[in-house]
Amino acid sequence: MQSYRKELWFEVPRRRAFINITPQVEQCLRESGIQEGLLLCNAMHITASVFINDDESGLHQDYDDWLERLAPHAPISQYRHNRTGEDNGDAHLKRQVMGREVVVAVTKGRLDFGTWERIFYGEFDGNRRKRVLVKIIGE
Ligand code: ZN
Repeated sequence: MQSYRKELWFEVPRRRAFINITPQVEQCLRESGIQEGLLLCNAMHITASVFINDDESGLHQDYDDWLERLAPHAPISQYRHNRTGEDNGDAHLKRQVMGREVVVAVTKGRLDFGTWERIFYGEFDGNRRKRVLVKIIGE
């Protein structure tokens, strides 16, 4: 069995964003040389997500509006977590809803997606460098 590991770095110049990271993940798969196996991709921060859905800008705005209704950023005093002096209580909750990781089957050297599936990095507390882990196992 072969194994491959890489960290992808992102620095989003605003608090929240959704980024299609499918090209970077596909590059990892090519580098790995693995033809059959499993690919894990996860955010390495507790205020960011990795998830799979459609690359459609209206949907991404819908996610952002929906998450802001569920867990508004302000007023920051509404979150017990922010009593630590942080201001990202909402970002922890948004990350929980959108998930930590995805696993994708690797078949014949390709990500074995459904038709419209793409991999996204969801940032909920940006303006700093953060990491995503890609781990691929197989042969
Ligand atoms: Zn925090």
